[in-house]
Amino acid sequence: MYYPDEVIEEVRSSNNIVDIIGGYVRLQKKGSSYFGLCPFHNEHTPSFNLYPESGSFYCFGCGAGGDVITFVRRIENLDYMEAVKFLADRAGLQLPELGVDDSMSKLRARILEINRETAKFYHGVLKSPSGKVGLDYFLQRGLKPSTITHFGLGFAPDTRFALVNHLKGKGYTDEELVQANVAVKTRSGKPMDRFFHRVMFPIIDLRGNVIAFGGGTMTDQKPKYLKTSDTLAFKKSYGLFAMNFAKNSGKEQLILAEGYMDVIALHQAGFDNAIAGLGTALTTEQAHLIARYTKEVVIAYDADEAGQKATARAIQ
Ligand code: ZN
Repeated sequence: MYYPDEVIEEVRSSNNIVDIIGGYVRLQKKGSSYFGLCPFHNEHTPSFNLYPESGSFYCFGCGAGGDVITFVRRIENLDYMEAVKFLADRAGLQLPELGVDDSMSKLRARILEINRETAKFYHGVLKSPSGKVGLDYFLQRGLKPSTITHFGLGFAPDTRFALVNHLKGKGYTDEELVQANVAVKTRSGKPMDRFFHRVMFPIIDLRGNVIAFGGGTMTDQKPKYLKTSDTLAFKKSYGLFAMNFAKNSGKEQLILAEGYMDVIALHQAGFDNAIAGLGTALTTEQAHLIARYTKEVVIAYDADEAGQKATARAIQ
C-alpha cells in the first residue's frame, strides 16, 4: 500500500529540508551545505551533513542518510506512511485516500479535534466568571497571565455536562466523546464530563497536538490529579508535559520536575527546558524520548522522602 510517486515527490518538495532538519539539529552553513551534531548517534564534533540541493543528508559518523522522509521517520520514530502523512500535514497537503479501512485513523483525528476544542473550552471558562476560582488559584500560585496563556491552562466547571453539551453542539457524537475520554458514560448510558471543578493542564505532543489533559484539584478532593486514560491519540507511558516547549529551548540539559505546576513555575523563571512525566514513575518509553533530545537530565523532584525515592528510581 503506497502513495503514487508524484504524491511522494509533492510531499518532498513542499517541505524545505533545511527547515525540517533545522528543527531538530543546530545547523551551521558551509558553502552550499550545512553541518551539525548528528541526532542519531552521540558525538561531540559534527559529522552530520545536509545537502539542500539534492534534498539529502548523510552522517559520516554513523552512516545515517537519506531524504527528508527518511529523516522524519527516524527522528520521530514513524513508519514510512506515517512520515509521509506527518510531512503532508505540515505542508497542508491533502493525501489521496488509499481505499483501505482507515476508520481508526479517522477516529484518532476526531479525538485530536475534540481535544483541541476541549482545551479551547476550558481556557475560555478560566477567563469567564465561572472560572474565577481556577484563575484565582493560578494567580495565587504566582503564575502570570502570560504564563497561563502560554500553557493554555483552563478550568473545568463544576457542572457535569458543560463540556459534553458544548462538544455535542459542535457535532461530535456521544461515542466520540467517550473514546476521547473527555466524557465518561453514566449508568443511564448518557455521557458526562470526565473532569469537573478542576484546573486543567493540556498535554501537547511534539507536533503541537493536544493529546490529553491533566486535571488538578484546588482542595483536598481525591484524586489530587486526574488525567486522560489511554486513547487512540494518547499513551500515558509516552507522555511528557511541556516537552513541546523544552525541545526548542536550545539548552543542552533537560530538567525533569515532578508536577505540572513545578514545570510551569520553572518555565516562568526562565528554565524553559523543564519537563515532567504525567504523575507516574518515569517509564522506559519516556526515558527513550528524552534521550533523543539530550544526554543530560537534571532531576528536580521534591526533596521529601517520596521525592527522593522517585529520584532514585528515575536515575535507573
Ligand atoms: Zn550519526
